[in-house]
Amino acid sequence: MLGFFLLLLISFVVTGFQISGLKQFNRYFNTFQSSSASTNLMLQINKDVSELQRHISIFSNTEKITTINQIKDLHHQLLEDINLLIESDSVVNTQQSNLLNQMRTAVEAISGKIDLLQSEKEQRDSMININLANIYMDMENTVDNVFRIMDKTRNNKFLDELWIGEHYLDQSQMLTNRYFSKHEFRLKKDVITSLYLVEKTFKSILSDIKDVNAYSQINSVVENLAKARVAFNQAVQADRNYLFLVNVVLAGESAEISNISEKLRTDFLNEQARIVASTDEQIARIRNIVLISAIMGAVLAALIALYIGNRIRKPIHSITNTFTRLAQGENLLDIPGSDRRDEIGKLANAANVFRQTNVRTQELLAKTEEFTEELKKRSIELEIAVNKAKSANEAKSQFLANMSHELRTPMNAILGMLSLLQKTELNSRQKDYALKTESAAKSLLSLLNDILDLSKAEAGKMELDPIGFNLDKVLFDLKVILNTNIGSKPVELIVDIDEKVPRYLFGDSLRLQQILINLGGNAIKFTQQGYVAISVELNSILSNSVNLKFSVKDSGIGIAPENHQKIFSGFTQAESSTTRRFGGTGLGLAISQRLVAMMGGSLNLQSELNVGSCFFFFIEIPLLSAEEIVALENKNLKKENNNNLKRLDSMKILLVEDNPTNQQIALELLQAEGAWVDVANDGQEAINFLSKNLKALNSPGVDLVLMDLQMPGMDGITATRFIRNQLDCKTLPIVAMTANAMKSDRDACIESGMNEHLGKPFDLEHVIKVLRAQTGWSEIKVDKKLTSIDQPITSEQIKEFDFQGAIARMGGNEALYRKMLPKFIENLSKLPDKLNELLLSPENIPKIAHEMHSLKGIAVTMGALHLSEQVGVIEKKLKENPDDVNAAEMVKSVCNLIQAASKHLILFLDQH
Ligand code: ADP
Repeated sequence: MLGFFLLLLISFVVTGFQISGLKQFNRYFNTFQSSSASTNLMLQINKDVSELQRHISIFSNTEKITTINQIKDLHHQLLEDINLLIESDSVVNTQQSNLLNQMRTAVEAISGKIDLLQSEKEQRDSMININLANIYMDMENTVDNVFRIMDKTRNNKFLDELWIGEHYLDQSQMLTNRYFSKHEFRLKKDVITSLYLVEKTFKSILSDIKDVNAYSQINSVVENLAKARVAFNQAVQADRNYLFLVNVVLAGESAEISNISEKLRTDFLNEQARIVASTDEQIARIRNIVLISAIMGAVLAALIALYIGNRIRKPIHSITNTFTRLAQGENLLDIPGSDRRDEIGKLANAANVFRQTNVRTQELLAKTEEFTEELKKRSIELEIAVNKAKSANEAKSQFLANMSHELRTPMNAILGMLSLLQKTELNSRQKDYALKTESAAKSLLSLLNDILDLSKAEAGKMELDPIGFNLDKVLFDLKVILNTNIGSKPVELIVDIDEKVPRYLFGDSLRLQQILINLGGNAIKFTQQGYVAISVELNSILSNSVNLKFSVKDSGIGIAPENHQKIFSGFTQAESSTTRRFGGTGLGLAISQRLVAMMGGSLNLQSELNVGSCFFFFIEIPLLSAEEIVALENKNLKKENNNNLKRLDSMKILLVEDNPTNQQIALELLQAEGAWVDVANDGQEAINFLSKNLKALNSPGVDLVLMDLQMPGMDGITATRFIRNQLDCKTLPIVAMTANAMKSDRDACIESGMNEHLGKPFDLEHVIKVLRAQTGWSEIKVDKKLTSIDQPITSEQIKEFDFQGAIARMGGNEALYRKMLPKFIENLSKLPDKLNELLLSPENIPKIAHEMHSLKGIAVTMGALHLSEQVGVIEKKLKENPDDVNAAEMVKSVCNLIQAASKHLILFLDQH
């Protein structure tokens, strides 16, 4: 505070000095200014005086009357300036003032003389130029008259004298003029003398003259001469007065004025020089004062700053230090400066508060660390628990998968036995029991299958098994299956495939069907009346695949919004009452959702309570190529063919196989062919089975044994030896199944007593052949029709058109085919233009290839087999070396093919 006060004081003092300096400077400056103003005025007066003098002298020499006006103006100006200077405050000393007054008096005095100068000049001029000049003119005229008169008399003497008189008269006039113009005073005498001569001459003429007229004339001349003398003298006097006034009076007075003025000028200039000198001196003095005061102020301020710095900087430094140390977490007990009462003291107090907060923060930190540690421990525990739960879940899934698998085997046996049982003779009650048992067993099996699926999916073990399939067939089968679910309910089942949807696809058709059965089954289950519509729509088509929308819509009970999410998790149903009312496990949607996800889609739901539900999903499915379609159709034909004929009908087989997959495949293939199959999981089980039968029935109870070679427990070779030797079962055909195709294996089989050897994987045709041969069944007789179908269609044999095949591929729906055909023809007609346009740029070759691909697919669907095949060949060429091919030629041939095919198709349309 003191520091600031002192600093303020110093700055006041310094400013005071500076202000007083400035004031003084201002005063001096004003004095200097007014003195220079008056000096300037004085100089102007001085100049005016010289100018006046100059004009007076000009006037005296030139006698121009205009100069008088200029003199008057100058005089007036001079007087004004003098008055101005006298009246101005700056007039300095008494001497100057006196001189000025003196000058004013002199200048005022001259004024009358200037006026006089004019009148005198006028008076003089009139005397010379009027009076005297008139007299001379009179005399001249008179003399001229006398000449005229005397000329007639011819008096030569008289004329001579008159001429002399006139000459003298001219001379006098000339001298008179010269006198007044040159002011040569000696000429005055000459003028007088000359006038006397004139008088004398004329007087002598007068004495001789006779003529009265001439006499009187000459006499008037003589009289005028006297007048002329008087007038000349008067003019001389006036001229002298005037000259005196100009040359003596005015010149003298103006010289006096000039004198005073000169004095004053010197005086003013001296005074001015004095003031300038003193102002300079004063300014230097003021500058010194200001400089010294500023230096003193700066020095003092520096001293004070040093003092304040020492008083404040040190404690601040120590406080800063304290704060830094506190911030670094030191726990200082003594805060310096806390006993002070000033700002430093306040800062020290703040540091103290900071220290306390610090201590608290550290405590909090310690606690947080404890918490974090605890949290870490917990999260580790949690992780362990999660892992445990995960592995428990996995174990559960694994267990479920295993269990359902294990359960399925006896379930299959139960069902098999039941079907066997139903083939025996039963009374109606027993039949009823058997039927109900079968139905219960079937639903139990389906439940087991569901559980197996879900647990497989959860354990990540579920895999898709994609194959080429015909969508029409999948949906046709679906309709057949679902129709049985409807029973007697007034519910219409609609299955609709958009005609734009390509039918030949590559995917897991069984799983797709499973999803649709689940969704369709639910829809039927939860719809009491109305409809259930299953539809497939084309969402988008890509070069090699399609994106399809599958939806299952019903007009059933609907699902409340809050249950939309819930129902997709396993074992959950929309309402608890649902279970009782409708039955079910809550697994179907969970499985379907997982399957859709595996196919790259997601199962969605739109539903409104009491209005209905719609489950839908989009999936992308690859398309089949023309060759694949042909191959698929062949396979289907063959299967159909084989299905019609159960080639192992009622053959009883014991399947000895430990591997469940192989077991299942073998079982299903054999059962499909009509065989009755019993399963043993290893050699021992097979022996037990056979010995039991041998005891009870006295026969092995089977027609043939299919024996795996490598099995845990008893292997196939050992078992065979035991059967042949111990059980004495010599004729029972035993056929080995092995993946080992080596000759040594084969020999070992035969050596142990086996009849034949089959390699894995199964070739069904071969298996059937061998089994029939071993059991002594005849060769299969195939009728002609079958043979022709049985022959695979090769590309060379493709007929140009197969309308019936196309209709069959559309599920036999001829109306649909006939609906699609005109569209196909229309599209074909547009294609040539499109292709030719694409041909314009070589970059478009892939696009042309794509067009060929699409055409190939649709052509085969529509039964234009030749077109499809040819287009396929071109597509292949375009794709293999797009740079090398002659695209133009190819497009041309395609256009020809299209033209030909179109004609044929139109013909078909017209004929049917
Ligand atoms: P489940 O049908 O065996 O109970 P799901 O997983 O297939 O098991 O279905 C779960 C639940 O979702 C059903 O119990 C039912 O409450 C509800 N749900 C499924 N589909 C429909 C539908 N179309 N209409 C009404 N509710 C349905």
